[in-house]
Amino acid sequence: MVIKRHYENKQILVVGLAKSGEAAAKLLLRLGARVTVNDSKQYEDNIQAQELEKLGVKVVCGSHPLSLLDENFELMVKNPGIPYDNPIVKEAERRGLPVVTEVELASEISEAPIIAITGSNGKTTTTTLIYEMLKNSTLQPLIAGNIGTVACEVAERATEQDVIVMEVSSFQLLGTQNFHPKVSVLLNIFDAHLDYHGTKEEYVHAKSKLIANQQQMDYIVYNADDPFVVSMTEQTNANKIPFSVTKDLDVGLCIIDDQIVKDRVPLIHTKDIVLPGFHNLENILASLGAALLMGATLQQVKHVLTTFSGVEHRLQFVKKYRERLFYNDSKATNILAATKAIEAFTQPVILLAGGLDRGNEFDSLVPALEGVKAIITFGETKEKIAKAAKAANVDVYFSEKVADAVDIAFKISIEGDIILLSPACASWDQYKTFEERGTSFIESVANLI
Ligand code: ADP
Repeated sequence: MVIKRHYENKQILVVGLAKSGEAAAKLLLRLGARVTVNDSKQYEDNIQAQELEKLGVKVVCGSHPLSLLDENFELMVKNPGIPYDNPIVKEAERRGLPVVTEVELASEISEAPIIAITGSNGKTTTTTLIYEMLKNSTLQPLIAGNIGTVACEVAERATEQDVIVMEVSSFQLLGTQNFHPKVSVLLNIFDAHLDYHGTKEEYVHAKSKLIANQQQMDYIVYNADDPFVVSMTEQTNANKIPFSVTKDLDVGLCIIDDQIVKDRVPLIHTKDIVLPGFHNLENILASLGAALLMGATLQQVKHVLTTFSGVEHRLQFVKKYRERLFYNDSKATNILAATKAIEAFTQPVILLAGGLDRGNEFDSLVPALEGVKAIITFGETKEKIAKAAKAANVDVYFSEKVADAVDIAFKISIEGDIILLSPACASWDQYKTFEERGTSFIESVANLI
């Protein structure tokens, strides 16, 4: 751990617990800070707050009283899930109190270089690929961020012999000031999380914080096919490594004659890659760009590409039953992700879609739906999805949840069909998490059998 900033005896307010708030509070405590934690969950039910209190943290539970800010805090560490229009965050900003998320702490204390990955879609897949590719290289990869272990916890134990492979969301990035990855990976920018960020400009602004502090010694691996990503990288001093699945590039990664090439040198034939879906080629090019830069061996990279079949709930192959193929893509929580999943198949697709209503329409899903055989829809958005399906001239069936959608899909399917859960919506209207929704799909398929 590097100590760049001294926290001893500094008063710090951690707002919002969950995994990241708890990790930040404990880290700050170890760094000698005087920590107050403020969480909306009542004290009686708040086991995390009770445990932190035993460690010497002051806890304020049940609400976010603005009077708490009258104490002389020097920093607020905010859980990324708490929006900026929460009154306590707004008031902190009005008073000039710096508001950061725990990835800022991670970047500050890490001895290991950081590869930080962001984008609207593909973060987890790309992060996992880079992590796998860096195994058996000179640096030991540590995976961190949204994907598993909280970033600041990983950063605390990381040494110069390690490299942190960190998935970062726009929510986390918005709360950064000096966040500084050695290698940043920018996958794509799509209209996502507009309920949190308000406008696309704000969302792009959050994503651009990934590269804001990068210098001549650093690298940006970026999607040269995405105009938002390209414009974001225009003002940088860092070294640029573009990738493209559509263009021939002299420098960077692209596909020529069905081979993945880097700086025009062939690395692997696309037919040897196990991971399905055209969109995953983008993730693979991005991963190669970052992993080879940080010392991944060609042997390990090839091993990963010829064996890695995807992360759970991301276009995950579930079963073949009576010549129907079932795929679980529960993590497709937006239109782009569902579009990519549908486009991954040449066979007829029966799509299971619907979920939390974020206020958007599904007009941009219509072109992808035109190639679909039928749609089973559920959740808050079912009327809106049905409207898009009708515009695409596709048969629609309504179901309660994923379980009965699987039954309907099977009944209307014939041999050779793909039955795909790729909801284009978040899950929170009916399920606790997208994992729970995906697991329900897998169980329902098992019940059929
Ligand atoms: P994230 O962590 O950004 O949500 P994941 O790797 O978990 O990304 O994938 C989420 C969803 O997005 C999956 O359903 C997958 O099919 C889709 N997806 C993955 N990579 C891409 C990509 N490069 N472009 C568009 N969609 C993608």
